[in-house]
Amino acid sequence: MSDFKLADRLSTLPPYLFAAIDKAKAEVAAQGMDIISLGIGDPDLPTPDFIIDALHVAAKKPRNHQYPSYVGMLAYRQAVADWYKERFTVDLDVTTEIVSLIGSKEGIAHFPLAYTNPGDLALIATPNYPVYGIATNFAGGEIEYLPLLEENDFLVDLDAVSNDTWAKAKMIFVCYPNNPTAACATRKFYDRLIEKAKEFNVIVVSDAAYTEIYYDPENKPISILECEGAKDVAIEFHSLSKTYNMTGWRIGMAVGNSNLIAGLGKIKENMDSGIFQAVQEAGIAALKEGEPYAERFRAVYKERRDVVSAALSKVGIQHRVPDASFYIWCHTPKGYTSSEFVTNVLKQTGVVLTPGPGFGTPGEGYFRISLTVNNERLEEAVSRISNL
Ligand SMILES: *Cc1c(COP(=O)(O)O)cnc(C)c1O
Repeated sequence: MSDFKLADRLSTLPPYLFAAIDKAKAEVAAQGMDIISLGIGDPDLPTPDFIIDALHVAAKKPRNHQYPSYVGMLAYRQAVADWYKERFTVDLDVTTEIVSLIGSKEGIAHFPLAYTNPGDLALIATPNYPVYGIATNFAGGEIEYLPLLEENDFLVDLDAVSNDTWAKAKMIFVCYPNNPTAACATRKFYDRLIEKAKEFNVIVVSDAAYTEIYYDPENKPISILECEGAKDVAIEFHSLSKTYNMTGWRIGMAVGNSNLIAGLGKIKENMDSGIFQAVQEAGIAALKEGEPYAERFRAVYKERRDVVSAALSKVGIQHRVPDASFYIWCHTPKGYTSSEFVTNVLKQTGVVLTPGPGFGTPGEGYFRISLTVNNERLEEAVSRISNL
């Protein structure tokens, strides 16, 4: 047997926090219990037919069978620009301020390679999507985690970060609407973030994957690019995945500061060759004509949110009713750690929840419910938990 030693960068990966849950899940499944997973952040609803039809047509065109460009078809970038204009009243230059992504995870994972030297500091708002930290580690960067606390509505307390830390930081990662806490950014928060970033020459990385999963059309989540001066410091990652139920398709975009877009583009130019053009054509259809469908999906999530929220209140599980995202961030009942509670629920009911610390230390005392299962299963899960 050969003994190939893994590269050191893989030993910097954080410990796998779901090991206990996975073990319990295997045990429960072995007993024949019916498992309902409220753990996965992946829409269960299918991609709308008109998008699939657009793929069919586009896949038949021979010119789509050749290498695409990493930057994305002009028509795709134009559709992104039109969508940002329509949705956020943000103007984007199609040639310099947009790059296509093979899903926003791809872009987020590659971005630190363009701007992080070994030892450079990244600030990461936590609990968080794990890719920010892993990508920073892979690029050799250092991390300081900034806790998202309920008393601050899960917004980063920007003024609690010392000037010394700001001065050392190369970039800051934020995600609103937030996964996992479901919090939304205010304009005031983004304004202050831009101010700090300008003062200390820090790159703002905004992960905006959930802006279209909202519940109050009068109070839609905003893009940081709506705020004055954002283009001086910010790159925003967005995606068709959550909006149009297209997680499997791998299509997204980075938009914003033209230098940052060019830097990310340089990495991509050397690592990948873009998105299959037929998928881009389907993406164009989604961006142009997807809004009525997105509206229907929001109605589905809203119904689910209300069913689950009412049931949680009934059993005394404290939580905020989310304004956006398809997650509910809940307090663990007194007397349990997150992991103990989640394991206990799984063993007794077969319902899988995600323990908060899986997203970072400040997630202790919380668990996450995902609303990505159908009503029937959701009601079944909720009724089992109610009978605990
Ligand atoms: C799902 C998700 C993404 C990435 O989605 P892609 O499918 O790669 O576009 C990015 N950020 C957060 C917080 C997510 O939950």
